[in-house]
Amino acid sequence: MKKIFTGMITVFTLFMTSTAVFAETVVFNWKTLKFHKPNCQWAQKCTVNCTKVDKKEAIKHGGKPCKVCGG
Ligand SMILES: [Zn+2]
Repeated sequence: MKKIFTGMITVFTLFMTSTAVFAETVVFNWKTLKFHKPNCQWAQKCTVNCTKVDKKEAIKHGGKPCKVCGG
């Protein structure tokens, strides 16, 4: 019984970790190639050149994390 419980915890942890990685959305500035967390003050000021994209997409396009929020 204990073994099953430990297994369930492991699966749950893996599921949560992978979801967090895949679902991370950032606000990407296509002009400066910086990406921000959605709650970053600079992300909220950026309305013209920014779109919400997956963090992996931003990095793929040469994006660098913002120095204020860390991406
Ligand atoms: Zn930022």
